[in-house]
Amino acid sequence: MSDATELPKKEEKLEVTPEPEEQSDESSEDEAVGETEMDFLRNLFSSTLGLGSTEKVLDELTLEGVARYIKSGKCKNILCLVGAGISTSAGIPDFRSPGTGLYANLQKYDLPYPEAIFQIDYFKKHPEPFFALAKELYPGQFKPTICHYFIKMLKDKGILRRCYTQNIDTLERVAGLEGDDLIEAHGTFYTSHCVSFCCRKEYNLDWMKEKIFSDAIPKCDKCSSLVKPDIVFFGENLPVRFFTSMKMDFPRCDLLIVMGTSLQVQPFASLVGRVSKSCPRVLINMEKAGQADPVLGLLGFGGGMDFDSDKAYRDVAHISTCDDGCLAFAELLGWKEELQELVKQEHARIDSQDEREKESKESAAMASSASVEPQPKAEE
Ligand SMILES: [Zn+2]
Repeated sequence: MSDATELPKKEEKLEVTPEPEEQSDESSEDEAVGETEMDFLRNLFSSTLGLGSTEKVLDELTLEGVARYIKSGKCKNILCLVGAGISTSAGIPDFRSPGTGLYANLQKYDLPYPEAIFQIDYFKKHPEPFFALAKELYPGQFKPTICHYFIKMLKDKGILRRCYTQNIDTLERVAGLEGDDLIEAHGTFYTSHCVSFCCRKEYNLDWMKEKIFSDAIPKCDKCSSLVKPDIVFFGENLPVRFFTSMKMDFPRCDLLIVMGTSLQVQPFASLVGRVSKSCPRVLINMEKAGQADPVLGLLGFGGGMDFDSDKAYRDVAHISTCDDGCLAFAELLGWKEELQELVKQEHARIDSQDEREKESKESAAMASSASVEPQPKAEE
């Protein structure tokens, strides 16, 4: 929920809860952002001066070529960059498509302008529209897609370094990725925090769910301030972990898989340029994306995808839905049946869990109505 204008600047205090266990060996926030700038300069110089190896790793610029590379066993640090396109088949509307997506359905909330619903200052004064929308879009009403389970398989095979997602639907977690496997660049519904700087008490998903579904505006039980899911609103910074992990992950990446994103939102979009020059990059999307602007390319601002030029040597575009692309990929890897079985099992598990929750709610409701109006017991 952040755009190009909201890249954290050195002067700004990053509004996030530190995660000490993950950052004990990391530098400070300021240094992390400073490093980002250094990386940028390093990349700029290396592309301008033609430094860095452009070794051809793939034998063919196709999904087959990428599958052969994975099967060769040389690929152990895969990064996935994913966006809204991986969740559309789960039924989640795309937040960023004007007209077709979410913004079109916001009229009923009487907002001054649609984006206000995700603007932190507006939210602090008028939280109602956001929570009404959150109820409609509540994570957990949806099941992860084939694509989500494909990423889970990469983890299970021990070759996923991390998945960077722009989505806030938590479907990566539902599919079995854990905190350390994930960078939720635009935050998550999974945890929530009190908005008061002095308090910042954390709340879990169940707590927030209860509030959202009882149409109550979530208030902190310690200080009565608003409680907000940890999704990144306009006017807020990206999580610190995004910057610290990026610095560690991208230089080590040996295959970048980009799925379901048109790579138009910064700083997420610039991540494709952060892998080494020999690192193959595959895009599975409904359209080509991330290509370098030809003029900027001439000026030496490289890093964009190059699928088609004479110089193309590492970028592969597979134009399809993310689910179809992942099935095709899995087939080439010899994992197709395993993937389909995983999806079947997990969806059945989620369905039966939903069924059990429904039943326990119904019986709780019956029990409470029974206590109000005791039913006469049958004589024995
Ligand atoms: Zn509080």
